[in-house]
Amino acid sequence: MNQRAAKKKFRLPLWAQILIGLTLGVIYGSLFKNQVHYVGWLGQIFMRGLKMIIAPLILTSIISGVAGLGDSKSLGRLTLKTFTYYILSSLAAIITGLFMVNMIKPGVGAKLGFSENVANLPVTKKSVTELVVQIVPDNIFRALADNNMLQVIFFAILLGFFITQLKEDQKQLLIKLFDALFDAIMKLTHFIIMFAPLGVFGLVSVVVSKQSSLGHLFASLGIYMLTVIAALLFHALITLPLTLRFIGGINPIAHAKAMGDALLTAFSTASSGATLPLTMDCIMNKSGVSEKIASFTLPLGATVNMDGTALYEMVAAMFIAQVYGIHLTFMQQFVAVFTALLASIGAAAIPMAGLIMITIVLSVLGLPLEGIGLIIAVDQILDMLRTTVNVWSDSTAAVIIARSEGEKLKVEAKRAKQKAQKL
Ligand code: ASP
Repeated sequence: MNQRAAKKKFRLPLWAQILIGLTLGVIYGSLFKNQVHYVGWLGQIFMRGLKMIIAPLILTSIISGVAGLGDSKSLGRLTLKTFTYYILSSLAAIITGLFMVNMIKPGVGAKLGFSENVANLPVTKKSVTELVVQIVPDNIFRALADNNMLQVIFFAILLGFFITQLKEDQKQLLIKLFDALFDAIMKLTHFIIMFAPLGVFGLVSVVVSKQSSLGHLFASLGIYMLTVIAALLFHALITLPLTLRFIGGINPIAHAKAMGDALLTAFSTASSGATLPLTMDCIMNKSGVSEKIASFTLPLGATVNMDGTALYEMVAAMFIAQVYGIHLTFMQQFVAVFTALLASIGAAAIPMAGLIMITIVLSVLGLPLEGIGLIIAVDQILDMLRTTVNVWSDSTAAVIIARSEGEKLKVEAKRAKQKAQKL
């Protein structure tokens, strides 16, 4: 074996490198609380690099994906399937949360000695109608500049669709142009992803260094945290794997392995948006989903399909009701399920968005907005976990939809080969 081949053979996979970055980040952040500025910039550069490519990635991937679908019938079918899946999986997550919070009752009798002043909290006063109206951009350049993913997606789907309505020569020209742009952005994505282990190290060091009183927080909010975590784990380790196995016919472990880089990045960045370039890379290059399906489902999923956030909205709202001793009737809980769904759809794919959206759920249910002050202290760690579940669910959707469109995936091909070798 020559030296180059040996080097290639012993190269650690990216997910393992990211895991090392994460572990070192935990160690550095806890040992050198006051020296995190020496490494924090690594995380900042990584996050900025990812954010830099979100808008062009969404724009080019959706336009080339939608234009490549060819006709309005395929677009209609894919849209219907994708949205049905997103809504059902988010509802399943919310119901898991509702069940757990009613079983464990983390807020009943809880004596929380502290509550942060709501005046300093990031609350949103947007109504549900406003959220819907704002999907339509009034200025596409502002939408791009603000990284407003939902608005960019809206514009890109329309433009992609109308490209299919052009004369053949014009259509081919634009499809080629956007395909080439998309390929270039994916190459740039690969370049940024190479720095993920260093970026994750910087990000995690800073997060860990800020958790000074985790013990104290855990003492008062531990049961609430455990309720959220148990519900998230149930959804991620039971509901979604069963869906993968029985609806998609895909081995959940093989799929999880393919998605390792994206899941670890989701955990470290707490942003589905920033993780999107990695999610697309893993889904296309490791799972083998076509560019057409990945380009359509993943940017949309990162923005509207947030199972972890939906579940979190439900548990947090019920916890606040329990702490204030407010009993919610069955009908109110029913309304809460749909409000949590809407809040998760409306939440931006950025850190803490879910916490901000709780205001909507609280105001619809008539619960005190100050309640948000009770849970803000432990939001960061829960945000990291729910973002991982969000990305896990997006990737599950992408492979299931690809299978339903008759695509053969790499993860299956590998297993079939292994089986054949055994025989
Ligand atoms: N941080 C989450 C995400 O980007 C959204 C949330 O705060 O729940 O997916």
